[in-house]
Amino acid sequence: MRCGVCGSERLGPLGELTSGNRPGDQRYLRLRFPRPKLLSARPQYDAYYARACRDCGAVIPFLGPAVLKRFAAEAEGLEGLEGEEGG
Ligand SMILES: [Zn+2]
Repeated sequence: MRCGVCGSERLGPLGELTSGNRPGDQRYLRLRFPRPKLLSARPQYDAYYARACRDCGAVIPFLGPAVLKRFAAEAEGLEGLEGEEGG
């Protein structure tokens, strides 16, 4: 696996992603898309994990296995939604 920023192959181990240590702090980053049509749920995917690059320090978030499976199944339906204003 390569770093998406510098191309290094020296990515660190998968760690838990969190914004802080206080109770209530978000423990993930959420990737959201506009609703594909009225009455359907807004597609969103939580990244609970991340790896850091040992060479440039970039932090790269990852979806967990269950979320990745759902994202992979729904990704085709997300085409064309990018760049639209979300609500
Ligand atoms: Zn890097």
